[in-house]
Amino acid sequence: MNKHTQHLYADVIIPLPLPQLYTYQVPEEHARNVQAGCRVVVSFGKQKTITAIVQRLHHQAPEHYRAKPILEVLDDTPTLNDLQLSLFAWMADYYMCTPGEVIQAALPSALKINTQSFISLVPGIDIEAHTLSEEERRIVALIQKHEALQYEELSRKVRNSRLYGLLKQLQDRGLIDIFEKTKERYTPKRQRKVRLAAQWLHDKNALNELLSSLEKQAPQQWYALLKYIEASGILRDWTRNESGVEKKSLYATDARIKEAAIQALIKKGIFEEFEVEVSRFAAVDADKLLPPPTLSPAQEKALQQIVKAFFEEKKDIALLHGVTGSGKTEIYIHLIQQALESGSQVLYLLPEIALTTQIVQRLRKIFGDKMGVYHSRFSDNERAEVWRGVQSGRFSFVVGVRSAVFLPFDNLSLIIVDEEHEASYKQHEPAPRYHARDVAMMLGKLHYAKVLLGSATPALETYYHAQQGRYGYIALQERYGNAQLPQVHISDLRTAQKKNRLQYSFTPELYEAIRKRLEAQEQVILFQNRRGYSPYLYCEDCGWIPKCRFCNVSLTYHMHERALRCHYCGHHQGAKGTCQACGSTRVRNVGIGTEKIEDELKLLFPEARVARMDLDTTRGKEAYQKLIDRFEAHDIDILVGTQMLTKGLDFEKVTLVGVIDADQLLYFPDFRAHERAYQLLTQVSGRAGRKDSKGEVIIQSRHPEHPVLLDVQQQTYEQLVTRELQERQKYNYPPFVRLIGLQVKHSKEEVAHAAAHDLVEQLQKQLGKARILGPDIPLVDRVKNYYLRNILVKIERQGIHLGSVKKYIAHCIQQLTLQKDYRRLLVVVDVDPA
Ligand code: ADP
Ligand code: ZN
Ligand code: ZN
Repeated sequence: MNKHTQHLYADVIIPLPLPQLYTYQVPEEHARNVQAGCRVVVSFGKQKTITAIVQRLHHQAPEHYRAKPILEVLDDTPTLNDLQLSLFAWMADYYMCTPGEVIQAALPSALKINTQSFISLVPGIDIEAHTLSEEERRIVALIQKHEALQYEELSRKVRNSRLYGLLKQLQDRGLIDIFEKTKERYTPKRQRKVRLAAQWLHDKNALNELLSSLEKQAPQQWYALLKYIEASGILRDWTRNESGVEKKSLYATDARIKEAAIQALIKKGIFEEFEVEVSRFAAVDADKLLPPPTLSPAQEKALQQIVKAFFEEKKDIALLHGVTGSGKTEIYIHLIQQALESGSQVLYLLPEIALTTQIVQRLRKIFGDKMGVYHSRFSDNERAEVWRGVQSGRFSFVVGVRSAVFLPFDNLSLIIVDEEHEASYKQHEPAPRYHARDVAMMLGKLHYAKVLLGSATPALETYYHAQQGRYGYIALQERYGNAQLPQVHISDLRTAQKKNRLQYSFTPELYEAIRKRLEAQEQVILFQNRRGYSPYLYCEDCGWIPKCRFCNVSLTYHMHERALRCHYCGHHQGAKGTCQACGSTRVRNVGIGTEKIEDELKLLFPEARVARMDLDTTRGKEAYQKLIDRFEAHDIDILVGTQMLTKGLDFEKVTLVGVIDADQLLYFPDFRAHERAYQLLTQVSGRAGRKDSKGEVIIQSRHPEHPVLLDVQQQTYEQLVTRELQERQKYNYPPFVRLIGLQVKHSKEEVAHAAAHDLVEQLQKQLGKARILGPDIPLVDRVKNYYLRNILVKIERQGIHLGSVKKYIAHCIQQLTLQKDYRRLLVVVDVDPA
């Protein structure tokens, strides 16, 4: 018997951490319009309905279960294209997670209604003005009663199997919003406008008569109408009436225009009110766009070298290694322009913190409305708008953070990964734990696009591959214009401390330099990569150190909010002045955070305007930008902050950068510590001295002779690389091997411990002892009430099949978690941990 039937089946991806795809039957009426990549609604588990993605269509009934029917097809054209389906399948495979987890990360939640979604009416919408079916009316009435209603609740009340489809139609018509969390409620994207009713158009005399009659009877209305005529410019051109004037802008800009008067004019039929959908991204006039900047000879040469590497040497990937301030962005702009002119798409990736308005504004002036911006600070609806914009062709160019690799491009020819060494390209939690630079390379491969990596301090892996000839390599060693690289001094903390010459946390050199810069009315940036006031408190009488209840880590003291905070789980409690073990008042704070530096500066330089930039001061949506604006306007003399300071900021008057404590970076227990320290110190140094003024950098350290510091000082990146690569080769670390990190988690320490040992034993059976390290007890061995054990798998780059190793690891984990004692065990897999 042939198992093939007439029936059409779809393998769908459920956006949940489930290991496999599920097969559903496609009902007759949907068979024509369903395609791979379409969103469909299916019932899954106990009475749950969920949006899933069709991966594949076929005629083969599943063997072990009866296929349930698809309830609804949400798309006429697929939400995911074939290239995305391939990319996501690769990601699930490579990063050892489930296809559902990839979909969950990829799709903006406005595009995936599920039972937890919230639904509300679009604010300010006039439902009466829309024709609705009876069922739609009933649904709208239910939603209207609530500010936001959860899908589950609505579905209980409505009991209509077509609810998904109905909601989607309402969403498409702009009547309702669907969003994941109540707090994600978006800002209205509609504008209410007024214009003159048709009967008054094209006849100046009639309009004049109307005006003079209003002037006597209703002067406020007269005034409002007059102002409308002025603002709209209809007397010069009647067609201008069509687009009207925003109602609010009429009365908001002129106190003499009363909202009531406008209302009255509407009532009389003189004005008509209407609504338009406006983009959340302000429009730019196409004829006001600027041409790309003229390149300096050095930039021009680099550009030619890039083109040569891509098209003559046929490299798919190239590294642009350009010092800070060399004007890499300007080179990108030229490449982007060329790619767009050829009719293809461009993706420009930036790390989270580098995506400031500074860069967006620069690009907007050149690329205008073609450019979409994809940022995690955006609301979900804004993300959905960019998604749809890429799909419709409205945005052929997107500048975005790591998750922009998920967007529905179908014709990329260029991908730029700026600051490619940045650790924030790696997603740590939740799965997929992907690295956007590496995903970008795969994305490039699928599109036959070129990938350009840019950095002043390339990742060691990247530089190594370039050295090996796998990537094209272009160096740009001079800064743009007259700008010079800053002079770097290393200031000896140990000696200063010994001789008792420290002023709080400052050596005499750094103190003196700050004083001079302030006197010259210049600006200073101070870097300390630790937020809070001090990393811990310590009782001098009994040795008590306050620790987190849920994690094995000391609580950071935040003086300004008088709180102790856990930087691992977010737990916080009030800070009391006394020891909670012995009651002593001799509780000392140990170590230095940004808050403490801020306070010390206020004591040392009472006249200076000091501000702080870290996670705590930039929580609000606008807070980060406001700080930057204030610093740019020179409302701030000294800006203290964490690594947020190091990226993408370009301030002319900053002539001094100080690093309070470099040792904390140099002695961090991680094989990448030296590389990271070099990158961070070089990047933060790069903030000093732009344009004509030469900048100065002072780095405080107890180990002033440390080779990494000398490399930063002399900018001997190659020397650092050579040394580090030797170490990595000797001890088997990337780029010489691939790493897979495994973290075993359990609420009981004995169980975590035993399970980790069992797992290591299993892994060693096939992979051998040398490839498996651990289990290790991590520095912080309990987080959020889970005890942690780490295992590291090292796989050579050649002579072993990576896919098979991953399969075997997955198999071992599965076997382990099937054991009765380990039912509650979690094993987190992190491929290429960073
Ligand atoms: P990088 O990203 O390499 O650190 P940027 O692209 O930020 O450097 O450039 C540094 C500064 O020099 C910026 O203020 C930029 O506007 C300016 N600049 C660079 N190249 C040009 C150019 N060709 N024309 C005008 N200004 C430029
Ligand atoms: Zn005590
Ligand atoms: Zn904690």
